[in-house]
Amino acid sequence: MDIEKQIAKTIKDHGLIKKGEKVVVALSGGKDSTSLVYILKKLGYNVHGLMIDLYLGQWSKTHNENMIKFCKENDIPLTIVDLKKELGQGICFIKSIVKKKKNLTGCSVCGTVKRWILNKHAKKLGAKKLATGHNLDDEAQNVLMNFLKGNVLLGVNSSPATGGKPVEGFVQRIKPLFFTPEDEIRKYAKSNNFKILYEKCPCAFGTYRVETRSWTKDLNNKQKLKVVEGFQKILPKLRGNNKMEIAMCKKCGEPARKELCNFCEVMNCV
Ligand code: SF4
Ligand SMILES: [Zn+2]
Repeated sequence: MDIEKQIAKTIKDHGLIKKGEKVVVALSGGKDSTSLVYILKKLGYNVHGLMIDLYLGQWSKTHNENMIKFCKENDIPLTIVDLKKELGQGICFIKSIVKKKKNLTGCSVCGTVKRWILNKHAKKLGAKKLATGHNLDDEAQNVLMNFLKGNVLLGVNSSPATGGKPVEGFVQRIKPLFFTPEDEIRKYAKSNNFKILYEKCPCAFGTYRVETRSWTKDLNNKQKLKVVEGFQKILPKLRGNNKMEIAMCKKCGEPARKELCNFCEVMNCV
C-alpha cells in the first residue's frame, strides 16, 4: 500500500488542510505521529511538531531525544512542553491521585491532560489545525469499545476532521491517518529507518483499550475499514440528534461543555 498517496487522498477528500495554513502535529515519539509529520512535510504542508514530556521515566527520555534528533534532521520546528513546568507534576503522580478520587482509568486522565495542553499550545503556536496520529486500528477499536460500553454517542466527534466542523476555542483536530492501517504505518516507518521506539507506553496496561485491542487483533484491514466506514455512515444522524453547546470553562477559560472543562475537573482532585 502506498500510504503517502492514501493520506494525501484522505486530506483532499475531507478538506483537512488548506495549503499554507499552519498544522501543529502532536508528536508522541511513536511510529504513527512520526510518519504523519514526515509525510505532511513531504507533501508540502507547513508543519510544526508539538510534544509533551509526560515524565514517564526512560520511555519519555528516549522519545524526547529521538524527536529532537528527528525534527532537526528533517527541518521540522519542534516545541516540547514540560509537564512538570506546566502543571507542577509528572503524569504518573496526577494519574495516581485522580484514579483514587474519581472512577477513571489512568489513560483517560492522561488523555484529558494531553488534549488540554495540546489545544492550549497549538493555539499559542498559531495553528489552524492540530493533527494527531490516530490510525485505522485505533478508530475501529474506538467504535467497538464505545459500542461494548453501551454508549455509541461517545464516538460522536470521531471523523477525519474531529467533530466534522470547527468549534470556537478549539484548534480543529484532524486525523489524516484515519483510514490507514497500523501495520502499513509500521512498515513505512521501518522502511524509512526512523530511529524511534516501537514499544507501547509502559503505563498502557489494564485499560479497556488494551482489552479491545486483543479482540480486534484478528480482524483484517478490510474488516477494520468496514467497522470504521459503517460508523461514519450513521454519524450525521447521531450528530443531528445530539447538538452540544460549547461555553468557556469558568476556571481556565478554555472551551468546555459544562461549567468546568474536563481538565479542570481532573486537576481539582490533585
Ligand atoms: S498509553 Fe495511556 S498513559 Fe500512556 S501516554 Fe497514552 S494515554 Fe498516557
Ligand atoms: Zn478548565
